[in-house]
Amino acid sequence: MSGAASRFNAQPAEHFPNGLPSLDLDQALLAKIGAEAADDLVTLIRAESVNPPGNETRAARALITLLEREGLTPEFYEPIPDRGNVSVRLRGSASAQNPSLDPRDPASGALLLFAHLDVVPANQDGWTVDPFAGVVKEGYVWGRGAVDMKGALAVQVGVIRLLCARARAAGLNPATDPIPGLRRDIILTATADEETGGDEGIALVLRDRRHWLDAAVALTEAGGVTITAAGTRIYPIQVAEKGFARFALTISGRWGHASMPDSDNALLRAALVVERVSTPGPVQFVPENEALVAALRAALPAAAVGGLEQLLAEETFEDAAPLNARSRAGGCAPELLRALRAVLRDTFAPTILASGIRSNVLPGSATLTVDSRILPGTSADDARAAMIARIGSDLAPFVKVDLTEYGAAVSNNLDHEILGIASAAIRARDSEALLMPVVAPWATDAKTTVPAGIATYGFSPYLLDPEERFMERFHGIDERVSLEALAWGVAVLYDVTMGYAGE
Ligand SMILES: [Zn+2]
Repeated sequence: MSGAASRFNAQPAEHFPNGLPSLDLDQALLAKIGAEAADDLVTLIRAESVNPPGNETRAARALITLLEREGLTPEFYEPIPDRGNVSVRLRGSASAQNPSLDPRDPASGALLLFAHLDVVPANQDGWTVDPFAGVVKEGYVWGRGAVDMKGALAVQVGVIRLLCARARAAGLNPATDPIPGLRRDIILTATADEETGGDEGIALVLRDRRHWLDAAVALTEAGGVTITAAGTRIYPIQVAEKGFARFALTISGRWGHASMPDSDNALLRAALVVERVSTPGPVQFVPENEALVAALRAALPAAAVGGLEQLLAEETFEDAAPLNARSRAGGCAPELLRALRAVLRDTFAPTILASGIRSNVLPGSATLTVDSRILPGTSADDARAAMIARIGSDLAPFVKVDLTEYGAAVSNNLDHEILGIASAAIRARDSEALLMPVVAPWATDAKTTVPAGIATYGFSPYLLDPEERFMERFHGIDERVSLEALAWGVAVLYDVTMGYAGE
């Protein structure tokens, strides 16, 4: 097994020889702060920050109040009116002893806990509660941002609270003194504008407040969440994010009278192009996917491995039908297979087709928009070449291919120590947990931090019921997270924080 895959097999004793740090805490305090994460989430949901337009300053001010209550002195930065950002730093012994320590030093540098303050819009239709009221009922906090990602921010705040309590218990001031037991600095940074790309949030923070982000490693959304499939509890950790390539194809034909149709019809050619472009194609075994598949093969129950091998051999939508039918019959949730198929290859999805001017005129031109999501390693030239190959040499003379937008995937070291610590912290609570690296099919602010040299992993732990479908809650209706999931997340993230940043 490769080094990378073994990080995800890490056993608790490797990283926590003296047991989990959270077990050394006053358990009443841990429970209290776990419960306060729900109160903090309610506060953050009520500080409505829908983007566009954002108005994140409301949520930023709410966060500042929570941090000030712990005796901290957070920094605020509002480069654009109403688009506030917040950061706070807790000191560890390494930087206290060596004030010129590089915060990015792998051995002693800082750990960054990193969140976004904005949320996507919520149309009241379909919701059973007011999305911005911060309703608590049936053991859940309901509202826009509960999952993405004010809930994860509340969990991060919970860890900060636990560290502040350590300082106060030792008679120290958490705003200025090193936190007892902490070697590395901990930075909590929350920024605006993630949901529309970060140009008015993370990009400005990186430009003007670089020290808010400079760390040896960063943890943000969205991994460490329980996904139950085929009776197995899987916890993906986001190690990379796909990039995108957007194409405009112009397909030519011959204008003519519709009473005498022929194969020169541009719309007919466009239909062929749509079909060829959409075909999924073979799995691409980039290193991230090799590690993912190795982790799945090693840990899936025997009954599920056959299904995995079948999925890996699929190349067309027709190939996928038998496994989809079996999953509907009870194996694993179809949306998981859909997500897995998407992250195992570059995808090409036709999204807009336009052609024709009148019912009785054969169209001489058609335009097709294709949204492509690409794996680490796929360059703009690679994406373009793949598109041309899909179109085929017979149709190529009739198709002009324009790559209109391109953003590379981002990827992190698959063998980073913190991946082992995170895996061990979860396995200590769930000995049958299957930890695995994933390339996220979506984009987060890691798109900005990773190219800036800050290793950024998606790890925002929540313990979820088998029935709870986390991915559907992202940007979905009735977004909610349980009180139990929040308290569990605080304890797990505290253990990971101390496992990595502790003495
Ligand atoms: Zn998010």
